Amino acid sequence: MAASKNAAVVGNGCVACGACAKVCPKKAVRVLRGVRAVVDPERCVGCGKCARTCPAGVIVMARRDSL
Ligand code: SF4
Ligand code: SF4
Repeated sequence: MAASKNAAVVGNGCVACGACAKVCPKKAVRVLRGVRAVVDPERCVGCGKCARTCPAGVIVMARRDSL
């Protein structure tokens, strides 16, 4: 499959709730040491589920070529 145009990026303000990791169909999100979430752009398919789920609203979808 061709790489998606967009990938999720976690911004400042993540409270490490883990909701994004739970909904990600590609297991692309890890919550580091209970501090913040990090997205692996190699796994992310840009579906946007994590961004829609995040209660803090800190996940944005960014163009891969701007990462
Ligand atoms: S955009 Fe989709 S695939 Fe990418 S990290 Fe979020 S839920 Fe996972
Ligand atoms: S859902 Fe939002 S606040 Fe919760 S771990 Fe993911 S990025 Fe952080």
